[in-house]
Amino acid sequence: MNNKVFIPDFKDISIAFRDKNNSELKQSYWLFKGMNAPFLVNIGSKVGMFALHWSFPFVRDIIKQTIFKQFCGGTSLKESLPVIERLGKQQIFSVLDYGAEGKSSEEEFDFTLQEAKRAIDFAQSSGFNPFVSIKLTGLVQQEILEDIALGKILLEEAKIAFDRFKDRVDDLCALAVEKNVSVLIDAEESWIQQPIDDLANAMMERHNGRKAIIYNTFQMYRKDRLSFLKESFHLSKEKKFVLGAKLVRGAYMEKESKRAEDLNYESPIHTSKEFTDQSFNDGIQFCLDHYQEMASMNASHNVRSVSIQVEEMAKKSIPFNHYNLYFCQLMGMSDILTFNLANSGLNVGKYVVYGQIKEVIPYLIRRAEENSSVTGDMSRELHLVKSEMQRRKLL
Ligand SMILES: Cc1cc2nc3c(=O)[nH]c(=O)nc-3n(C[C@H](O)[C@H](O)[C@H](O)COP(=O)(O)OP(=O)(O)OC[C@H]3O[C@@H](n4cnc5c(N)ncnc54)[C@H](O)[C@@H]3O)c2cc1C
Repeated sequence: MNNKVFIPDFKDISIAFRDKNNSELKQSYWLFKGMNAPFLVNIGSKVGMFALHWSFPFVRDIIKQTIFKQFCGGTSLKESLPVIERLGKQQIFSVLDYGAEGKSSEEEFDFTLQEAKRAIDFAQSSGFNPFVSIKLTGLVQQEILEDIALGKILLEEAKIAFDRFKDRVDDLCALAVEKNVSVLIDAEESWIQQPIDDLANAMMERHNGRKAIIYNTFQMYRKDRLSFLKESFHLSKEKKFVLGAKLVRGAYMEKESKRAEDLNYESPIHTSKEFTDQSFNDGIQFCLDHYQEMASMNASHNVRSVSIQVEEMAKKSIPFNHYNLYFCQLMGMSDILTFNLANSGLNVGKYVVYGQIKEVIPYLIRRAEENSSVTGDMSRELHLVKSEMQRRKLL
């Protein structure tokens, strides 16, 4: 394949929205317009949480028809199938992501494990979904991870719970190997991340002998993550496994800064957006320099960060569909990247989050906050949807 002919044009909005009809486009427009205003997001989050807590059925319906429809596949795998098939027809794979967060009992952790295993079975049987993703805090008490990260000695009961957690993760990874479906382990808050990294490395060492089945996530907004990425690569060489690295900027910036300030320690997050961008792009470059020995996923909505990789692949004549190089965006966001990447034959997917409305609320709040504008500028998504509305003469 001659890469140069197929370089995607990330300004082509007609490709980005080609599977949306006018009425779907208008819905997205009004939703992003609403989310653009921080005060609406603020009030909406609080009212939504309150009403859901008290189980007002009409609130559930409103959320389901608006923000949930934009960012989630459905309340179950079965309900998400039309979305997954629609993406599949455009050569876009779905990363199945059971979005329930904030679980705290052993029964809930077992349920999350079963749900993740169902996703692996589903991914394998559907044929075109090579990944599932998992948040490890869905399988264990956060406090236990925090204690381990602090180097505390666990009490007997916590030790047993931690062993059960490791068994759950191992069980999941073994099934993934059997079904040849890759597992992306999400990155979370810095104060619980170290045991997650340790377990991810242990799972990669055990299961990534010949190819990357398990991937760890690197939040490049952290000052220490570029060196950690390099260390992880060197560890993989030493221990003879294939590193799987999903690169993101990071979703918990405000929480991280607030905690660092409250507890009076230096924030682990880069001091400016420019430093985060540099760190992310350097990470991408590192993965490309070693793409034959490790697998990576560029998980970003940033046009520059995605373009850098595409341009470098074209320059080095790396096949666009190379089995070690992936891109991914979140459902409902940056279709301009996803659809144009797919159109040029690059490996690209969407995180398709699914789960009961009440359970995915924290995820929806993060998406709403990401799309609101503190500066008063129009958000990236609103700008794109508005341009397509104008192109179709709907505005
Ligand atoms: C497929 C996929 C999977 C994801 N998985 C995870 C995950 O496992 N864990 C996780 O934490 N997040 C995850 N995310 C969320 C991701 O971290 C956010 O979407 C991302 O932060 C948005 O950044 P961007 O690359 O799209 O680029 P941009 O929109 O250009 O960057 C925004 C980001 O830059 C950083 N930033 C902004 N301002 C500053 C500042 N002043 N100083 C320093 N840094 C700043 C923040 O990280 C902010 O979110 C995932 C995203 C995708 C697309």
